[in-house]
Amino acid sequence: MPRNDLMDTATLPSGEKGYVARQDVPAGAVVGSWEESAVDSEPTKFTIQVGRDRHVDADAVRYLNHSCVPSTFVDASTGSVVALRPLAAGDALTFFYPSTEWEMTTPFDCACGHAGCLGKITGAEALSADVLRRYAVNDHIRALVADRDAVAVD
Ligand SMILES: [Zn+2]
Repeated sequence: MPRNDLMDTATLPSGEKGYVARQDVPAGAVVGSWEESAVDSEPTKFTIQVGRDRHVDADAVRYLNHSCVPSTFVDASTGSVVALRPLAAGDALTFFYPSTEWEMTTPFDCACGHAGCLGKITGAEALSADVLRRYAVNDHIRALVADRDAVAVD
């Protein structure tokens, strides 16, 4: 069963809609999920990429905002949103968009405010392997980076 019962939708200080933790959860907790049978769709502002050419539109990720210091990891292989650290009720649920997205349909200037903020977020395609190594990223992103960098090297 898909779950998002540990998420609440909130209006963030930025005015954007986003998910927050409904209750305290430990690191490693699954706070959201979607079914394997979720319908693939064309990439949009609300989908996440789960394979080279697969995009899923699921409640569990629709209002999961980006952060350069994310609080969750979206695991495309299991269809789940996993807490990266202990979360308190009301903490913003965020993930690192380039961990699933190779090229984003809606690039934006990140305002997460963290010291390591990457600035413009356009997807993993624009990031070096060194930068991506700092983050948990999905297998399809690792594979796409390997393909890209194999072509770039003599
Ligand atoms: Zn940022």
